[in-house]
Amino acid sequence: MPAPPPAPRRRSTAPPYSLWRLLREGLRAQAGWPRAWRAAAPRERYQVVIVGGGGHGLATAFYLASEYGIHDVAVIERGPIGLGNVGRNTTIVRSNYFHPANIRFYDYSLRLWEGLEQRLNFNTMVSQRGTLNLFHTEAQRDLFTRRANQMRLLGVDAEVLSREAVQARVPLVDLDNGRFPVLGGFLQPRGGTVRHDAVAWGYARAASALGVDIIEHCPVTGIRCAGGRALGVETARGFIAADTVCLAVAGHSSRLAAMAGLTLPIETHVLQAFVTEGLKPLLDVVLTYGAGHFYVSQSDKGGLVFGGAIDGYNSYAQRGALPMVEEVTAAAVTLLPALAPVKVLRQWGGVMDMTMDGSPLISPTPLAGLVLNGGWCYGGFKAIPAGGLTTAHLIATGTPHPLAAHLCLDRFARGCTVDERGAGPYPYAH
Ligand SMILES: Cc1cc2nc3c(=O)[nH]c(=O)nc-3n(C[C@H](O)[C@H](O)[C@H](O)COP(=O)(O)OP(=O)(O)OC[C@H]3O[C@@H](n4cnc5c(N)ncnc54)[C@H](O)[C@@H]3O)c2cc1C
Repeated sequence: MPAPPPAPRRRSTAPPYSLWRLLREGLRAQAGWPRAWRAAAPRERYQVVIVGGGGHGLATAFYLASEYGIHDVAVIERGPIGLGNVGRNTTIVRSNYFHPANIRFYDYSLRLWEGLEQRLNFNTMVSQRGTLNLFHTEAQRDLFTRRANQMRLLGVDAEVLSREAVQARVPLVDLDNGRFPVLGGFLQPRGGTVRHDAVAWGYARAASALGVDIIEHCPVTGIRCAGGRALGVETARGFIAADTVCLAVAGHSSRLAAMAGLTLPIETHVLQAFVTEGLKPLLDVVLTYGAGHFYVSQSDKGGLVFGGAIDGYNSYAQRGALPMVEEVTAAAVTLLPALAPVKVLRQWGGVMDMTMDGSPLISPTPLAGLVLNGGWCYGGFKAIPAGGLTTAHLIATGTPHPLAAHLCLDRFARGCTVDERGAGPYPYAH
């Protein structure tokens, strides 16, 4: 595996959280904490305007300031930050891909997660408890073995487990369940979970301390373009000019791109997630069912956090429908019958921008001064550190970062799609 680009260097300059400050604030009713990030009012012009205060937008702003010395940056968010997909996902991070370029990209992200708390001085609760994908047929076992070999060849951790090893790791699994008996598992020990909304807060706090303006409650309503270039954004609080506009709006990529006259190879779908009542510790790994789409982990509060596939119809609504609830919960009790009496406390949906090959977009666009970060499908949370860093590189240097060059928009025109699952151009199949 070629040496990765150097890890980000500088520390955040946000006021430190320390044991001393925690003790001091504990003794004076927590009254002395400053705002975690400044409430900025929009200026007339910035060097860079990032639309979308989700994980990717905030990480891009942070790395622009910390790695590339570009501090004249605004993040424009239509609501409060953290209420988009960055705070709606099932918090899984991993790099267990098959395509070499994807393994490199997502493993770089995993390495950034590993140092993120120190870098941001913010507790994002990175928990490398392992991700365990179960397999149920011999063909599936062969595919996972190939994937594990591919990862190991690139220096990334992966293990193939026997049935017995799966049972020892997760005693609750019903190996001989009536639907799809379990033959074994594919483990990435460094995979795990990260507290999702803390990621938004941590990046926002660190970016703001480096001079980035985070402007909340400011929907972008248009993109002003002339002569083949983006000039800035129309917002509910007036026009903001920019040398570069970056779209990092996740499920709304196609709507924002349309404001600049662009049509993206994206379909918009809804994906649901669920949380149960709090339980005693019973699952110390992220578990994935291979005979359907079901993944589950246990949060630090004790609730089981789980999800499945996209609902399968196009939607911009942040809520799903009952058929997927039935499908996901059926998979849950098939695999872990002990869960049958457990109550689901909460359920929600997020809006997904599904590309035609299932891989994301970190890309220049046909318009000068307009950069795109989107198309994250199911998996954009784990990519936030690498997505932010490589998008910042593209904005700062005008050239794609070597780790993200395969994610450019023109791959569809060139016939070089990155079809990780070999599923063809069908969003529901990715
Ligand atoms: C239920 C669910 C489970 C998931 N599970 C996982 C998982 O386990 N692991 C994983 O890796 N990924 C997962 N994902 C995917 C992941 O959450 C997303 O791919 C990722 O968060 C998208 O990037 P983001 O954080 O920047 O998006 P967002 O947080 O959605 O940020 C985009 C922002 O743009 C803002 N915006 C939109 N339009 C405008 C406008 N006109 N003006 C201004 N602002 C605007 C939105 O309000 C939003 O805050 C899951 C997603 C969902 C919905």
